[in-house]
Amino acid sequence: MDKAGQVSMEAIVSLCRRRGFIFQSSEIYGGLNGFFDYGPLGVELRNNIKQAWWRDMVQSREDMVGLDSSIIAHPRVWKASGHIEGFSDPMVDCRVSKMRYRADQLFFAPVVVEGRVLGYVSVLEDVDMQAQAEEAANKLKRKLAVQGSLEALVLQPYAESRPEQWALVPSPATGEPGSLTAPRAFNLMFETHVGALQDAASVAYLRPETAQGIFINFRNVLDSTRIKLPFGIAQIGKAFRNEITPRNFIFRSREFEQMEIEYFIPLGEETWRKAHAEWIQTRRRWLESMGLDPKRLKEQAHPQEKLAHYACACTDILFDFPFGTQELEGIAARGNYDLTQHSTHSGKNLEYHDEVTGERFLPQVIEPSLGVDRMLLAVLCSAYSTDVIDGEERQFLRLHPRLAPIKVGIFPLVKNKPELVQKAREYYERLNRRWNVFYDASGAIGRRYRRMDEIGTPFCITIDYQTLEDQSVTLRHRDSAVQQRMGMEGVMAVVGEAV
Ligand code: ATP
Repeated sequence: MDKAGQVSMEAIVSLCRRRGFIFQSSEIYGGLNGFFDYGPLGVELRNNIKQAWWRDMVQSREDMVGLDSSIIAHPRVWKASGHIEGFSDPMVDCRVSKMRYRADQLFFAPVVVEGRVLGYVSVLEDVDMQAQAEEAANKLKRKLAVQGSLEALVLQPYAESRPEQWALVPSPATGEPGSLTAPRAFNLMFETHVGALQDAASVAYLRPETAQGIFINFRNVLDSTRIKLPFGIAQIGKAFRNEITPRNFIFRSREFEQMEIEYFIPLGEETWRKAHAEWIQTRRRWLESMGLDPKRLKEQAHPQEKLAHYACACTDILFDFPFGTQELEGIAARGNYDLTQHSTHSGKNLEYHDEVTGERFLPQVIEPSLGVDRMLLAVLCSAYSTDVIDGEERQFLRLHPRLAPIKVGIFPLVKNKPELVQKAREYYERLNRRWNVFYDASGAIGRRYRRMDEIGTPFCITIDYQTLEDQSVTLRHRDSAVQQRMGMEGVMAVVGEAV
């Protein structure tokens, strides 16, 4: 924990590894950058996040339906959507070190002393990059033995550099100028081939977002349901982006999962503004209801000049991660750009027919899009807690019971008393029919509680000699460590209410 009481990334990564939430992919072969494997507890947490989203956003709303479209679609889908043409990030290479950077994440500034330019410094985007740049500038000034005071450093992204600056900006890898290339566009889509022939005609792409699968099925959903505007189509699924610099653990990876909604609405500016504002509220409330610390959530509207040409507006919900405040979820108002593109490129009529007014039109859309993995990381960062219990420091995950991988830990007081073990197994079988529960008979009770606390199990029950007499158990609550005596009906009610 740092001074502000926030957990460090090292602590999160170490917990994830130690307790089997997340591993580096292909670890025994040295790992593969940008890919991760979810272990026994990670897969449960991940599934619970997806289930909670699906339950709250799809099943519990009359105006939403679900979809599961294929990961590989016809390449014309990506032509129409504009991804083949424009789904790229600016990239820059260091010719000497062979390192590759995102040109919008590499910042540089001229070092100026009393009007004279001494040279340039460069830093990679970071919470304290200004301080790092100042340190580098002072170092350069000392090296050149220049007197006088440094002018304020104004960092700018390398993506916006001018050709005459390319040879002057030092490579972050070598610290020397002259080895960085010009920034150039790098398409993030992974290519593959469909069928036995590997020629240009067989090229296909792994989807970089789930959204297009929704647009191309718009007509199918309209024709197969009786749903009326406004309505949404939701999808959870894997997406792939060949990110230039995957980093910050699962925050930016090359294979990830998205939970996306396309919410279709009638035309008109007032209509989209209202729907957009409502979705920002709905989504923010949901993130908070999952236990994300409200103080760590912020909203950021994209400035008009930085919007994609087809977007009307986009607001990101940011989360205060240990490595900085970054996008967790994006909520975009996309007009009817995508449906227009697909209708033009496919030649199919994708219009909605309003039976009341008789109008036919391509609806506008609001798109809330959340990454499962980023959500999981935000959940872990919010839940990670420490306190002192019985004079001993405790580290635990304050997970919302709906998200907790294991709902109840079940312990016989001792493992060498067959009557206790038998009773505990009986209760285990009973609870296991409804929830993911865990039976643990080894070690002191305190140790068993701590093991469950560390992985965020909200409840534990202990079966002791009194249980054999009156069927009551001790129910222990994770956050308060309070213990209550109650019967199994009581336990079922408490757990059922919480999860
Ligand atoms: P960024 O600016 O961080 O690259 P983006 O604006 O390109 O993200 P969108 O295309 O809006 O992201 O994707 C919607 C959501 O999908 C993001 O808010 C994020 O939660 C998730 N996401 C996008 N790219 C990645 C990635 N490489 N790894 C993990 N999650 C991602």
